[in-house]
Amino acid sequence: MNEHQFDNANALVCNRNEDLDRQKGKNRKTVSTEKVLTVEELHVSFKTFGGEVQALRGVSFELYKGETLAIVGESGCGKSVTANTIMGLIPQPPGRIKNGKVLFKGKDLTKLSKAGLRKIQGVDISMIFQDPMTALNPTLQIGEQLTEGYRTHHKVSKANAREKAIEMLELVGIPNPEERLKQYPHQFSGGMRQRIVIAIALICEPELLIADEPTTALDVTIQAQILELFNEIQEKTGVSIILITHDLGVVAKIADRIAVMYAGKVIEIGEKREIFYTPQHPYTKGLLNSVPRLDLKEEELQPIEGTPPDLFAPPVGCPFTARCPFAMDVCDRVYPETTHLTKNHAVNCWLQDERAKLVFT
Ligand code: SF4
Repeated sequence: MNEHQFDNANALVCNRNEDLDRQKGKNRKTVSTEKVLTVEELHVSFKTFGGEVQALRGVSFELYKGETLAIVGESGCGKSVTANTIMGLIPQPPGRIKNGKVLFKGKDLTKLSKAGLRKIQGVDISMIFQDPMTALNPTLQIGEQLTEGYRTHHKVSKANAREKAIEMLELVGIPNPEERLKQYPHQFSGGMRQRIVIAIALICEPELLIADEPTTALDVTIQAQILELFNEIQEKTGVSIILITHDLGVVAKIADRIAVMYAGKVIEIGEKREIFYTPQHPYTKGLLNSVPRLDLKEEELQPIEGTPPDLFAPPVGCPFTARCPFAMDVCDRVYPETTHLTKNHAVNCWLQDERAKLVFT
């Protein structure tokens, strides 16, 4: 994908030159070197009647202060399971964290008790879900929903919590916040409801915000506004964001780094421009080629043929073998080592092996 194609992907959600310019500016953002979160070799499975689904098979990545890491991939690749494991939302059973660590502020979240997790959930780590209507209680005024968690965790008076709620509604761009606190979710539009969900997630000033498909339920214009809001909030608060999405237009707009997941593994990770301009894994290239582009007709789109492997019995080698046009004998027998291409760009593919390079060049 060249710069023109990258900008076209971006233009799916943001079809304005000034936004593209701002996006290029964002790419130059300096991200802190302070780690907020470290995920190490995470393995998560689910027991079902049909057997054990190996949803995560050794997921590792780091997140730095003030950065946005997008986790992308097809449905079922494990991106939402990763988010839910970090947030402590995997029901055990049927889920089971079989191995690995999620290190946050010196603690391994996978080892915390339910009470220990509750102290962190919604305070240090918050989550935004896809559909704002189901995330809000239709029978409660917005003010109550905003202040409930804040009062529980901060032990402040009703008046102080109300002041904080007004401040948060102002932060997420809701006009007349004092009046709107008394209203119910159905009195807001879809975009405004998602702003309220974001305000609730941020009211305790978390260090980490996990957004799981936060714009999927919104129309394109509102999507662009919400993504712009994420950028503004990150600039103001320095919050680190993990963005779970299948939408590369969204990624192009707000991510700093991208982790591409396939069949329960991170198969490529790098800075946004490394992934968009110099992708190395055939699956990443396939994903980028299947993005609708303004300069292509519908019939010119190139879908990735085939389906992901069965995670009841995943292959021991590269899980993309059956769909990969470059697959070699070794691919389905041995999983490729991680190759570090730059400081931030790493990939798991046998094509990076020196011997494969001799064959394919
Ligand atoms: Fe294709 Fe082999 Fe690379 Fe997997 S390891 S993506 S099958 S070339």
